[in-house]
Amino acid sequence: MRHDLKLNDAPFEAVKHGRKTIELRLLDEKRRKISVGDLLVFHRVSKEYDILLGRVVFLYPFESFEALYQALPLEKMGYQKDEIATASYHDMEEYYSLDQQKENGVLGIEFEKLERPYLLDGHMHLEYGPLNREYVMEFIQSAVEKGLDEINILDHTHRFEEFREVYEPLRKIEAQNVWLQQKTKFCNTLNEYEALIREIKAMDLPIRVKFGLEVCYTKESEEALRKILSNHSFDFLTGAVHSIHGILYDMPFSKEYLWEAKETDWIYEEYYQAIRDCIASGLFDRLAHPDTIKMFHYAPSYDLTDTYRKIGRELQERNMIAESNTGAHYRYGHEDIGLSDEFLNILKEEGVSLIPASDAHHPQDVGSYIPEAAGKIRSKGDCLWKGVFTTLRRVRRCWRMKCCKCSAKNVTTMKEAGWPSWR
Ligand SMILES: [Zn+2]
Ligand SMILES: [Zn+2]
Repeated sequence: MRHDLKLNDAPFEAVKHGRKTIELRLLDEKRRKISVGDLLVFHRVSKEYDILLGRVVFLYPFESFEALYQALPLEKMGYQKDEIATASYHDMEEYYSLDQQKENGVLGIEFEKLERPYLLDGHMHLEYGPLNREYVMEFIQSAVEKGLDEINILDHTHRFEEFREVYEPLRKIEAQNVWLQQKTKFCNTLNEYEALIREIKAMDLPIRVKFGLEVCYTKESEEALRKILSNHSFDFLTGAVHSIHGILYDMPFSKEYLWEAKETDWIYEEYYQAIRDCIASGLFDRLAHPDTIKMFHYAPSYDLTDTYRKIGRELQERNMIAESNTGAHYRYGHEDIGLSDEFLNILKEEGVSLIPASDAHHPQDVGSYIPEAAGKIRSKGDCLWKGVFTTLRRVRRCWRMKCCKCSAKNVTTMKEAGWPSWR
């Protein structure tokens, strides 16, 4: 079983650096479910997705923090050396009153920090299936099999009737009009989606599951989007740019209408301007696949470093998360696993929060290249990641072969590939 624990900056840093191996909590109904061996997920309150993991090794129930402080070593609770002389059980009254302690009792949770990373897949679609519990469970099951800790489900706004008007400008190109007439478009309402979310959230799930929307952003539709979105609330909203002045860039027909019809430099300039407008709109928590414009290997003649730098600063100012989305790699055959190294490094330098995302459109694609993308986000050359990747690379290379320029031709699922099991 897993337990999520929120920590302020100081205790979070203490766990991170091994100065805190005992966490203190009220022994309420929620904490009574904790057992030795359970997974602890520590969340830094001030920064979403700054996460540490621990494994429970011992539980110390007491009637009060006064008793607990007498019995357990203060230096394991995260106190600095110079604080120990003045440390007192009264410190805990800031969080839990004496009445609460008396009613529930308190708990010291001793844990060992796990060096493995938190595995999140921040982007997947129910698009090709029904909006029902059974279909969501297929995604959750797939994530559990692959050892993920959390998945984020989102669907494109073009699934929902409410957003129909936003797509009208795309219909001027007949191929796009035909695409918008597919039965997967505008086939549900946001109310239906929200009802499903409530149903899933009421369940006891083995991993964390969040729900949002992938919103197709254009400057022209900004106010219409703002109006529709203001009536609904989701765990997160991801802004995405999929078109350049009314022409989709990621479709088979995009070559005819965009890539072969317009100057590549102009396409890139307009794309990144739309990305910057998307960020500036203030509508979104996250930016989807920031550099998917590279997907068909058309490259601009100019250097993108300045553009990346501006986007990094703007994301950081807005406290927005950027995806490193692996979809262009395994669905379209681009060699980059997620963001290009240059863009990724600039975003890291600018302090932007990054999450890996598979853009899975089918349950079996959940988690695709997530360890690799997560490793690139987090890596400082640490050996744990190398170990994980060596194992994965040896057996599994490209496991969905619609792709690809990848050299390997063996098709294998992540499970067959010996995806490491951590729980
Ligand atoms: Zn997208
Ligand atoms: Zn997507």
